[in-house]
Amino acid sequence: MPRRWVFADQLGPHFQDTPDQPVLLVESKAVFRRRVFHRQKAHLVLSAMRHRARDENVLFTRAETYAEAVSGRVSVCHPTSRAARGLVRRLPNVEMVPPRGFVTSPQDFVAWAGGRDHLRLEDFYRYARQRHDVLMEGSEPAGGRWNLDADNREPPPRGAERLGVPAPPVIVEDEIDEEVRADLDRWEREDGITFVGNDGPRLFPATRQEALDRLRHFVEHRLPAFGPHEDAMLAGDPLMAHSMLSPAINLGLLDPLEVIERAEQAYRSGDAPLASVEGFVRQILGWRDFIWHLYWYFEPEYRAVNELHARRELPKWFAELDADAVGARCLSDVLAGVRDRGWVHHIPRLMVLGNYAMQRGWRPGAVADWFHRCFVDGYEWVMTANVVGMSQFADGGRMSTKPYAAGGSYVNRMSDYCGGCRYDPKVRAGDNACPYTAGYWSFLARHEQSLAGNHRMRQPLRGLHRLRDLDALLEQEKARGSRAP
Ligand code: FAD
Repeated sequence: MPRRWVFADQLGPHFQDTPDQPVLLVESKAVFRRRVFHRQKAHLVLSAMRHRARDENVLFTRAETYAEAVSGRVSVCHPTSRAARGLVRRLPNVEMVPPRGFVTSPQDFVAWAGGRDHLRLEDFYRYARQRHDVLMEGSEPAGGRWNLDADNREPPPRGAERLGVPAPPVIVEDEIDEEVRADLDRWEREDGITFVGNDGPRLFPATRQEALDRLRHFVEHRLPAFGPHEDAMLAGDPLMAHSMLSPAINLGLLDPLEVIERAEQAYRSGDAPLASVEGFVRQILGWRDFIWHLYWYFEPEYRAVNELHARRELPKWFAELDADAVGARCLSDVLAGVRDRGWVHHIPRLMVLGNYAMQRGWRPGAVADWFHRCFVDGYEWVMTANVVGMSQFADGGRMSTKPYAAGGSYVNRMSDYCGGCRYDPKVRAGDNACPYTAGYWSFLARHEQSLAGNHRMRQPLRGLHRLRDLDALLEQEKARGSRAP
């Protein structure tokens, strides 16, 4: 059996054919020269690789490039980016085997997608549940309904500052983390490598054991509360009941199928309600696999699509995570979360960061690159459809039915941010006009023509025509330019 070459996002046992298959792992500094990553992401990836390097049977080498380090006959699981796949194909003596680390196969996705005009998560998710017999009672969905979103879209509990679920177990750093931190400091000092975001204690698993501990804790203590408030935000509780497992799954430390099976067991044993389990399974079996397949299914040029002709570059305060420059409470808090943790949950990503970028007409490719660099769980495959397609609507609706554009009233309903904010979500023009509310209307005004044919946008566009102060609002937003709100 040839040695299995594993990339930094293929660290778990499911990337080997047998537990004793020898492994080749290459640490390449060049990756950090090409892009300015979040400091905590660099730390997490290096720490995870160096922990894996300690395992028996692992040949660990450091090299400027992969090509220098890979010699002899090796096999590798299909990598997660086009660039890495190109490299694997160019290197001699490297056999590429099908991808792992996802539940559904490329063949199944292509068979499902072929001939469909629109690719929609809901249809794919139902197909995947049947195909893999997840949360099924024979041919029917467990509990009789495929979709429990209606139970899972609640605002935060009234008056609560926290959701009140137990926090994930704290990670205890070791001598490998100490070495990683010293190396990163030295690279910054001596090698001209730079990072974005603050350093801080490692918050995410770097070993399989840490990842399993987090999974067990999540399923026992946090999963039951996951569903109802999964879309809600509280300033004092950035984690809510989210799993924080994306970095571990994306590093390959956890197999998504084992995560799904644990969640399903909790439902079957009566330890977690169906709405929470279905909502969570939908994220992994549904969204995660869907996004992965779209990366390969769409043409490579998809990453550069720009149907809304958004051409502005990211302002410095946003690019550099300068949360203190921002007065709008939601955006400032979320940007601080990215700066301090490299992670915020799904709704701040979509409805606070992505929504703001789309309203302002920032270039989708630049926004995708920013997410890729600034998030501990960011990889090219996961960025492309999530950011370019879902959050920026730059593909004109190939994977979603309408833009995720919303004004301050959405943030107000789904969070406690607006109470303490200097802006008023109900006000669209004037000194205390909420930048999200004003940005929403100016986005609609800018794209009225291209959105006119979308039946889900008909009502908002009718609302636009009823605004008496639209001209003043548009002037105000023009004057705001790229200034921090
Ligand atoms: P939970 O809420 O606990 O969900 C469980 C798991 O579902 C996650 O761990 C993740 O593995 C998976 N998941 C859920 N939604 C998605 C999705 N849309 N795409 C892929 N996986 C999903 N996810 C990333 O892993 N990396 C990213 O860089 C990333 N960037 C995003 C950017 C934008 C603009 C948006 C809208 C979403 C992005 N997501 C990304 C998806 C999602 O926001 C994160 O996976 C999730 O917030 C991670 O936190 P969690 O582990 O607590 O997730």
